[in-house]
Amino acid sequence: MHPRLAFIFGLCCWLSTGSAAAQPPPAFPTRPLTAIVPFPAGGPTDVIMRLLAEPMSRTLGQRVIVENVAGAGGTLGSTRAAKAAPDGHTLVVGNMGTHASAPALYPNLKYDPARDFAPIGMAAGTAIVIETRKGFPARSLQEFVAYLKANDAKLNEAHAGVGSISYVTCLLLHTQLGVKPTRVAYRGTAAALNDLIAGTVDYMCDQILNGIGQVKAGKIQGLAITSSQRSPALPDVPTTKEAGLPAFEVSAWNALFAPRGTPAPIVAKLNEALSRALDDAHTRQRLLDLGCNIPEPAARTPEWLQSFVSAELQRWTPLLKADAASAAAARP
Ligand code: ASP
Repeated sequence: MHPRLAFIFGLCCWLSTGSAAAQPPPAFPTRPLTAIVPFPAGGPTDVIMRLLAEPMSRTLGQRVIVENVAGAGGTLGSTRAAKAAPDGHTLVVGNMGTHASAPALYPNLKYDPARDFAPIGMAAGTAIVIETRKGFPARSLQEFVAYLKANDAKLNEAHAGVGSISYVTCLLLHTQLGVKPTRVAYRGTAAALNDLIAGTVDYMCDQILNGIGQVKAGKIQGLAITSSQRSPALPDVPTTKEAGLPAFEVSAWNALFAPRGTPAPIVAKLNEALSRALDDAHTRQRLLDLGCNIPEPAARTPEWLQSFVSAELQRWTPLLKADAASAAAARP
């Protein structure tokens, strides 16, 4: 080959392989990360993220700083995360509320849970415990159901804002029982739990880790858990199936997301840091002690989470829209 042609050929090869293998993996992380918790401090979302932040920081070599951006059932903080720079330095803990039920309940929601995020991975599953204030005039789930049906107009149920997990799961319970108690909104279930302990509200549908200590200490009553099996962390609380309400079986979940457009190598690093955190002996034990379910390795990938979010949206959207339509039809 003519030397000049050989040079051009060589240059082309260099350019093409250069651009294919090209992009050197982005240097990441280059500064501390922010993990947005879209609920107040001390609640279940916050506790899960704070447990994960420390071991994730160790793997990533940069601090993971938790920022609580609460309001509107977690949709404010989730909106902030969806619009953040897609460089992996801003994450959000999304859950069954913010990433599955919110679109049906917020007509002007500023993000699409399935399109506007790069899923990182599932963090923790959380069953729901039906909790009442101490002294509530029912000692079992069956008595609670009977009392609720007879006295719904007098009762106050606490939740963490429209679209939150506590809101949606108790909505499901109310629809199944055909009751309409007063629904009292808090910014998160940490504050709702305080009022349940104080006795100023009557009951709530709470993610297990929030009230587990108070149930064990007898400061509130745990009537039933919505999982198919009892939780080893709360073995005395029967399942809804055992306690006579088999249709009310529901599980909540919490996962990490980055903004859409976050480069795949960065998503992979974050996913690895999350997965390692879940396998960290201390973190794992804390999550288990709080009654959380730790995802199996097969359910930890970003792809798994992406299809799970789509399935969850399909599951909750018609249910919540039908409920809203029937509530509108019942209005005088
Ligand atoms: N995740 C909320 C919190 O941390 C509670 C909920 O969604 O019900 O307060």
